[in-house]
Amino acid sequence: EIDGGDRGIHAFLHVNAEEALAVAAEVDAIRAAGGAAAEDLHPLAGVPIAVKDLIVTVGQPTTAGSRMLEGWMSPYDATVVAKIRAAKLPILGKTNLDEFAMGSSTEHSAYGPTRNPWDLDRIPGGSGGGSAAAVAAFEAPLALGTDTGGSIRQPGAVTGTVGVKPTYGGVSRYGAIAMASSLDQIGPVSRTVLDSAYLHELIGGHDPADSTSLDEPVPALVEAARRGLTGDLSGLRVGVVRELQGEGYQPGVQARFDESLGLLRAAGAEIVEVSCPNLKYALAAYYLIMPSEASSNLAKFDGVRYGKRVVPADGPVTIERVMGSTRAAGFGEEVKRRIILGTYALSAGYYDAYYGSAQKVRTLIQRDFAAAFELADVLVSPTAPTVAFRLGEKLDDPLAMYLNDVATIPANLAGIPGISVPGGLSEGLPVGIQFLAPAREDARLYRAGAALE
Ligand code: GLN
Repeated sequence: EIDGGDRGIHAFLHVNAEEALAVAAEVDAIRAAGGAAAEDLHPLAGVPIAVKDLIVTVGQPTTAGSRMLEGWMSPYDATVVAKIRAAKLPILGKTNLDEFAMGSSTEHSAYGPTRNPWDLDRIPGGSGGGSAAAVAAFEAPLALGTDTGGSIRQPGAVTGTVGVKPTYGGVSRYGAIAMASSLDQIGPVSRTVLDSAYLHELIGGHDPADSTSLDEPVPALVEAARRGLTGDLSGLRVGVVRELQGEGYQPGVQARFDESLGLLRAAGAEIVEVSCPNLKYALAAYYLIMPSEASSNLAKFDGVRYGKRVVPADGPVTIERVMGSTRAAGFGEEVKRRIILGTYALSAGYYDAYYGSAQKVRTLIQRDFAAAFELADVLVSPTAPTVAFRLGEKLDDPLAMYLNDVATIPANLAGIPGISVPGGLSEGLPVGIQFLAPAREDARLYRAGAALE
């Protein structure tokens, strides 16, 4: 079914049926034979998984949702892919995304949008809309995403699934095509918090191939999720972030959020109010830092070092002209917009005013969070200000599209972990509730998230 356009959802760009079935059969055979080999199987062995097409895989194409990489096959596996292969999870295929993970709706994919299984006229979020839609549509129980400003959590919110952005450095980024390296994180997408905990434990941990990878063991996430599933949150202080609610949030989203606070209180959590005054600058800082890093990361796609080569139709064939025609044809509008923003922000004379100021704001946001975590163990907010919007609704208005990320971007700027869990429906569409925790305290997200689920 996922091979045949999946009922109009279009979650997948590539389906890997044969290999997935072979791995599943291998796991079945090991289980049937019993003995030590069966006992040694990973708890997720045989559980199918979909992989966002920004993460490289041997034997399957990786496009990053861009014409630039059409038909490209990676010669190596991302570390997370090597880990899921070793644990024998059948890889169902590669999921759709906004080109180079730039967007909040999957409409910026060069291969056409993904649609929300709850309402095919609506977006599944972005950039990882394919992964979230595949899980929401019961096409895959698990998926991998990447989150630079919310691309795991916001699609999770608007499709009623669970999405986790781990602590920066908690999961290797080796083999994730870089968007903004200081913000990017790979993380799990699933239907339940416990499933994400299993996947997160599997893909997490130190990787010498990623210089920003934390050299420490993965926290006990499954245990934390199981603890949350008892429904008892006594002793947990939950901070409501004043700046991440109210104005700009749809009334239906706010209502579900307020109900969630009631549920948390009923589970024994202590609700406190916290304030992070610098969060109002987060979106502005993100839209300087992210394009700056992206413009640098995308410089390699020039038709010479990387990317498909487009030779100019007429005139002299110089390296510069080949690079120009390659980038003109290979990149879509949103990618070009961000490259221009980024190169402008980094240019001599403007660097201090734009990039430098944005980095200072980033530090202020980190300090705000540090102060908030003195008062609370986890913070809570709606994941996104609105439910899934209609296809086309924000496509011509980049600022409206960017605004959808107000609540998710701060975690990336601060390097802290976040989870989005389903928090009920508004107008028949899912609302997501986000928890944030201090860096390295991902386990707290799983406890709180599982209790609310
Ligand atoms: N929607 C955000 C953006 O467009 C986040 C993207 C992401 O997390 N990859 O930048």
